[in-house]
Amino acid sequence: MITVPPHLEIHDSRFAALVHPMSTLDQIADGFTWTEGPVWFGDRDCLLFSDIPSQRVMRWSETEGLTLYRAPSGFNNGNTRDRQGRLVGCRHGARDVVRTEHDGRLTVLADRYQGKRLNSPNDVVVSSDGAVWFTDPTYGIMSSFEGYRSQPEQPGRNVYRLSPEGALDAVVTDFAQPNGLCFSPDESLLYIAESGSSHDDSVPSVIRKFAVMGGTLRDAGVFATIDTGLPDGIRCDVAGNLWSSAADGVHCFAPDGTLLGKIRVPQVVSNLCFGGRDGQRLFITATRAVYRVFVDIHGAEPWTRGRAG
Ligand code: MG
Repeated sequence: MITVPPHLEIHDSRFAALVHPMSTLDQIADGFTWTEGPVWFGDRDCLLFSDIPSQRVMRWSETEGLTLYRAPSGFNNGNTRDRQGRLVGCRHGARDVVRTEHDGRLTVLADRYQGKRLNSPNDVVVSSDGAVWFTDPTYGIMSSFEGYRSQPEQPGRNVYRLSPEGALDAVVTDFAQPNGLCFSPDESLLYIAESGSSHDDSVPSVIRKFAVMGGTLRDAGVFATIDTGLPDGIRCDVAGNLWSSAADGVHCFAPDGTLLGKIRVPQVVSNLCFGGRDGQRLFITATRAVYRVFVDIHGAEPWTRGRAG
């Protein structure tokens, strides 16, 4: 008889094939305030993640442990990479999306829309054509906890696309605080978390689904509802399953939206990413800590699949 470890909650037998019963939930970093923005650098065998309130981006590797990558970080939140392997991040402080060049210089990609400042870009993905898609809720300027308190100049409902040519468009404008976002493996779908219910109980905590039509999106409805807390960061694996942050851990959904199971985490989860030397670890940022768990599947993003990926 196989014993299910206490951190796994299996709702559908398909989940048992994605998480090994011998897997453990390992805490690899602790002592932070609000960890976010995990991103794997397979070519350097390391993880970067943000601690937003302490204005730091940290680096973790299996061999060197935890080191400081960048401080002050400008209240850096979500991170991703482009197809050239460059770090692309969201900063609440400067209210922008910024790219770190290979030589370390920073290039601001977007900080204004129609002449007004962005609110506080939260999370970001880059499609294979080089377009940068990001969310712009008001969380980072509502208080001085993870940014500088200020009045929003944008409605806090927008998701933007920055074209490879540099044109910025609001591609969705009806969110209650858009948050994490990720593509399906073939980039035909873009999933976007709606976290507005943290401030308005009448708004359900959902992940919405959009069909990608070139540079625009067609609303394809609600993909899944989060039953505990709200969805923040989200990622797809190569099979199209979607892994979402939630208050009680990580929820894994099949491509049809069925809840397959949960990885229970003892602190509120903000975000997650695939990575590790073989590409089969899920790194989970959760309040004060970062956790790691073995998963029997690779992430959809090519740079997360390990050196052999
Ligand atoms: Mg977020």
